Amino acid sequence: MYMQRSIKTISSYLKPIVASRFLSLDAKRAKEHQSIGFIGLGNMGGPMAKNLMKNGHNVIVNDIVDTVVQDLQKEGANVAHTPAELASKVSVIITMLPSSPHVSEVYLGPNGIIQAVQEGSLLIDSSTISPSVARDVASEAIKKNATYLDAPVSGGVIASQNGKLSFLVGGNEEGFQRAKPILECMGQNIFHCGETGNGQAAKICNNMLLAISMIGVSEALNLGQNLGLDPTLLSDVINKSSGRCWSSEIYNPCPGVVENVPSSKGYHGGFSSALMKKDLSLAQEAATITKSFTPLGSLAHQIYLMLCSREFESLDFSSIYKFIRKDK
Ligand code: NAD
Repeated sequence: MYMQRSIKTISSYLKPIVASRFLSLDAKRAKEHQSIGFIGLGNMGGPMAKNLMKNGHNVIVNDIVDTVVQDLQKEGANVAHTPAELASKVSVIITMLPSSPHVSEVYLGPNGIIQAVQEGSLLIDSSTISPSVARDVASEAIKKNATYLDAPVSGGVIASQNGKLSFLVGGNEEGFQRAKPILECMGQNIFHCGETGNGQAAKICNNMLLAISMIGVSEALNLGQNLGLDPTLLSDVINKSSGRCWSSEIYNPCPGVVENVPSSKGYHGGFSSALMKKDLSLAQEAATITKSFTPLGSLAHQIYLMLCSREFESLDFSSIYKFIRKDK
């Protein structure tokens, strides 16, 4: 009796371990055997495509800028000259483009993916775009019996290089399960946010909050310095107190407080003010449609519009601190 119970206990303990062992073998096989198309090899897309190759995938790339294509070619990627050509060669495609018009062009344009997409293809768009554009592209994909997922990312260029992105995925469960082992080559947190467009919805809420917190940290550090406080000391205080956030701790906007972040490198690299302005305009568009009260999001949008009309457009979005300190 005791023996029987022990065997039962041991087998129920082993079951999930054995199952997860098989699951990880399946995931590994999926990783090894796929050819994946990648379009948009910029700050984020380039390192993501390289991480797919490091995980054993064959990658076919496309971008309108020759130098970034050549960079991937040197690493062993094949090249397609148009999105349509790429879609005719592979059944899994990832796109990482600047904004909604670029995504519409690459998917729905004359040489776009949808024109040549193979039946049963999986299309994953990791760009940050409007949820409504994501839904429009998804409905065109369905007409061709292909699955489209919106899968914008959180985490900047360093997370992209280190394969530590978070993916916020919208789309059906089957597509999500198919995409998961592929996304795990590039990220460590893969969230299923619900139906198509919900990944984009989660992303623009997060980035609206990020812009607000970055402006807040910059104001506090400026005020502190004007009161005679050392910014590193003040950041230490904030990071052990209730004002602590990602913008104060990990991505501090004051040069020299945190090593290796854009503020310590002349605000170069990272996430541009132009892209933050775009995300804030997506948030305002969504707030208008849903009649949501977002006064701080609206002000943050105005602040980044102003930054982009000056010399800050291509600098990292933490350069709001530089703008605030400008007269000092
Ligand atoms: P990027 O401008 O560096 O890269 C975009 C790439 O797309 C470029 O190489 C460009 O040549 C290519 N491209 C544009 N139009 C194309 C077309 N028609 N066909 C083929 N290629 C085309 O932008 P990024 O910083 O890599 O950002 C990409 C997306 O990721 C954006 O939506 C951004 O909001 C989002 N994002 C960026 C960061 C970041 O820290 N940079 C973080 C999270 C999310």
